[in-house]
Amino acid sequence: MKIKTRFAPSPTGYLHVGGARTALYSWLFARHFRGRFVLRIEDTDLDRSTQPAVDAIIDSMNWLNLDWDEGPYFQTKRFVRYNAVIDDMLSNGTAYRCYCSKKRLETLRKEQIARDEKPRYDGRCRDSHAYHVDDKSCVVRFRNPQNGSVMFNDLIRGPIKFSNQELDDLIIRRIDGSPTYNFCVVIDDFDMAITHVIRGEDHISNTPRQINILKALGAPVPAYAHVSTILGDDGKKLSKRHGAVGIMQYRDEGFLPEALLNYLVRLGWSHGDQEIFNIDEMKQLFSLEAVNKSASAFNNKKLLWLNHYYINHLPASYVATHLAWHIKQQGIDTRTGPKLAVLVKLLGERCKTLKEIAISCRYFYEDFSEFDSNVSKKYLCQAAAPALETVHANLASLTEWTPAAVHTAIKQTTEALQVSIDKIGMPLRVAITGVSQSPALDITAYAIGKSRCLARIIQALDYIACRARGNTDQA
Ligand code: GLU
Repeated sequence: MKIKTRFAPSPTGYLHVGGARTALYSWLFARHFRGRFVLRIEDTDLDRSTQPAVDAIIDSMNWLNLDWDEGPYFQTKRFVRYNAVIDDMLSNGTAYRCYCSKKRLETLRKEQIARDEKPRYDGRCRDSHAYHVDDKSCVVRFRNPQNGSVMFNDLIRGPIKFSNQELDDLIIRRIDGSPTYNFCVVIDDFDMAITHVIRGEDHISNTPRQINILKALGAPVPAYAHVSTILGDDGKKLSKRHGAVGIMQYRDEGFLPEALLNYLVRLGWSHGDQEIFNIDEMKQLFSLEAVNKSASAFNNKKLLWLNHYYINHLPASYVATHLAWHIKQQGIDTRTGPKLAVLVKLLGERCKTLKEIAISCRYFYEDFSEFDSNVSKKYLCQAAAPALETVHANLASLTEWTPAAVHTAIKQTTEALQVSIDKIGMPLRVAITGVSQSPALDITAYAIGKSRCLARIIQALDYIACRARGNTDQA
C-alpha cells in the first residue's frame, strides 16, 4: 500500500505550534514510508477564513521545510464535486432532504435538554415527505445508521467505539446550498486517496460520522491517529498568554527551523532518551506507536536550549543563511566586516537566538560615537588611559593582524605596565565594541580589523579626556 497522509489546516488563524506538530507528524509518517504528503486548505468557513492565514500557513510550511507532494488544494474550489456527491446520495437514499425549520429544531433541542437528553435531530424528515415545502428551503442530511456502532483503531489511542445512537443525521448541505465541513473532509480524504488521517484529538468525535459517510459511499476507510493537545507549562490550554504564537513569529524571534522541528517532534514522541534528532533521523525513526496519548506541556526553555544547540552544531554557513534575514531586520550593512558564517562562530556560543546575534553584532560592522553609558562610566576612566595608550601602541606596531598577534600585544601590555589583564581587558573591550560583553578580545579585535580597532581606542581616549575635563556628554 502506498502511504498517503495530509495536513488539512483551516485558515482561520495563524499556524501555531499545535498545528505545526500535527503537520510534522503527518509529514514524517509519509516520508518514513516513502509515501505522499498532501497539503489541503480547509477554507469552507467563509466568514472565518482569511488570505493572510492561508499565506501564513504556506510560509510556515516552507520555512519549516515541510514539503508537500500535492496541493495546496482548497475546499472552496471543490464545491461542484461535493454537491455532485450529495446529489448522488440523494438519489440512492444515503442522504435525504430535511425541511425542519430552525424554530422547530430549536424547540426540539430545548425539550431534549430539559429531559436531560443529548440534543440530536429526531429524524422527522428521514422517511417522510409530509413536511416537504420546496427544494429551496431544505438542508440535506446524511442517513446515519440507527443501530450498531462505529469502531476504529486509533493508531495512537487504541480502539475507540461510538454507538450509532449517539450520532444523529448530520447536515451535509446547508440551506444556502453549501456543503458542510465534515462532509468536505470525507470527500477529500476519499478523492485524494488518503490512507492515514493524522490530526488533533479535537477531531475524535468527527471520526465516527466521517467513517459512516465513507462506508455509505463504498469508499475505503483510512486509518486514524489523533494527536493529543499541547498545554502550557502551567497545565492550562496553550494560549497567547504562554507565547502560543504563529510559527513565523518563531522565525522572527530568531529560532532555526531545525530547533523548532526537533522541539515539536519530541513534544509527544520519543525514541529512548534521545533528545537531538536531525531531519533524517526523524524520518527514519518516527512511528505513531511511540506518540504519547497524554497531553504535552510546552516548554520555552527547552526550545531555547535546542536553538542554542543548533546554532552551534549546524554548519555555520547554513546558520548564516537564516541569520541574514535578522541582520537585514536590524538594518546592518555587513559588507565591511566578518562574513556571517564567521559571525555565527563568534557569537553563537553566547546567544540563544539568531535575533540576539543580530542585535549584538553591530560593532563588527559599524563605528559608533557613543558608549553604553553604564559601562563607559565604569571602565573608560582616567585610570584606564595608560593601559589604552600602551595597548594602542602595541597593536599599532603589529605587522600581521591575527588573533594570536592581538593576544600577544595585549599580553605585552599587561607585562609592560605590570598590571593584571582585568585592568586592560575591560577598557579595551568597551573601547573597541562600545559594550561590556563580547567574545574573547583577541578574536573580537581580529574580526573588527586593525584600523577600526585603533581608531576606536583613540575615540575612547578622547572620551576619557573629555570626561576628565568634566564633559561626559560626548565621546
Ligand atoms: N481543518 C481541521 C483543523 O484545522 C483539520 C481537519 C482534519 O485534519 O481532518 O483543525
